[in-house]
Amino acid sequence: DADIADLDPEVAAQIDAELRRQRHGLEMIASENHTAVAVMQAQGSVLTNKYAEGYPGRRYYGGCEHIDVIEELAITRLKALFGAEFANVQPHSGAQANAAVMHALLTPGDTIMGLSLAHGGHLTHGMRINFSGKLYDVVPYQVREGDLRVDMEEVERLALEHRPKLIVAGWSAYPRQLDFAEFRRIADLVDAHLMVDMAHFAGLVAAGLHPSPVPHAHVTTSTTHKTLGGPRGGVILTNDPDIAKKINSAVFPGQQGGPLEHVIAGKAVAFKIAASDEFRERQERVLAGARILAERLTRPDVAAHGITVVSGGTDVHLVLVDLRDCVLDGQQAEDRLASIDITVNRNAVPFDPRPPMVTSGLRIGTPALATRGFDENSFREVADIIAAALIAGPDAALEPLRRRVAALADAHPLYPGVRDLAVD
Ligand code: PLP
Repeated sequence: DADIADLDPEVAAQIDAELRRQRHGLEMIASENHTAVAVMQAQGSVLTNKYAEGYPGRRYYGGCEHIDVIEELAITRLKALFGAEFANVQPHSGAQANAAVMHALLTPGDTIMGLSLAHGGHLTHGMRINFSGKLYDVVPYQVREGDLRVDMEEVERLALEHRPKLIVAGWSAYPRQLDFAEFRRIADLVDAHLMVDMAHFAGLVAAGLHPSPVPHAHVTTSTTHKTLGGPRGGVILTNDPDIAKKINSAVFPGQQGGPLEHVIAGKAVAFKIAASDEFRERQERVLAGARILAERLTRPDVAAHGITVVSGGTDVHLVLVDLRDCVLDGQQAEDRLASIDITVNRNAVPFDPRPPMVTSGLRIGTPALATRGFDENSFREVADIIAAALIAGPDAALEPLRRRVAALADAHPLYPGVRDLAVD
């Protein structure tokens, strides 16, 4: 029963280093967050030892009496949070959740529609070498060239032409809200199922700050670790009892064995937190922060360097910086922000002329900083730092900006109660 620091100092040292990295830098990857200590306690618990194939009350293993209570709590809380009739909390990840839905509703060779990866969709929405692109016949839709928003007329035209069995609405890199009612109208026109993947914006929906897809979609999937702020994982929601049955069987035994009950306990804790007033207030700061970033990155002094933001602003927790007309490419911009301890990811923008490993964009999100307590003033400061870094010449000294980042990090202590593993 040796402590990890004694048993495996190599791993322990890296865990400590990662804690320091998170504390000393600013995390602005839009799909990341800092989960609650209580969630990490659930994940680091003895629940990790337990096999529980099946569902609460219908397990293929003994000794599940406590596991059942925990999984029921997660299900009940998740249904209440999003006003859904049925919930499956077992998918190991967002990708697994999407795979299970497709497994439940489609036969290989069926046609699906999803937002193209190059225009902000996710791999699991039909990317060529993802399972979704290999098993199904994919008809991607795109954003419009002018305003870079999803073109619902194109969605309708493609749906009528290709008669998909499933339409996927949702995104990984898109700064606006989708019209779920319109997606459902189009799905009904061609007798398709509508799946909304709310992985990115689920926290905003939970807080009532973003329209909910749940009343419109046949199925809604999500991750639990992005805006929702929980452990890494996936969930599936539906209001249709027949679809619910198919989904449960597609998750287990369709594609998973034993559920990760330690993660499910973490999900239950996260759903409790997401129902709180504190969580709503945090999501308000997430949105305010993203709006501030969009404002500051569209100012004339920034635009003069060929920098702008996709669609001219944001309705959600992220901005997509458009560097198509800038000398800096996505890789260089990501590296420059990394050098002042701000972590973001480069990301293709629609109609990107640069290759996917380089890109002409940056995706910048505010959830982790809002969790860390950032208010509008702190977001103004970080937005100004980012703008200054991006417009600085190649030889500019970035050290003063790095010091301003350090001051922001110090002013917002992360996990103050968490002790490191103290490896010498
Ligand atoms: N769906 C969307 C929209 C996502 O952005 C992501 C992750 O980035 C996923 C699904 C997949 O989630 P995971 O990484 O947990 O498999």
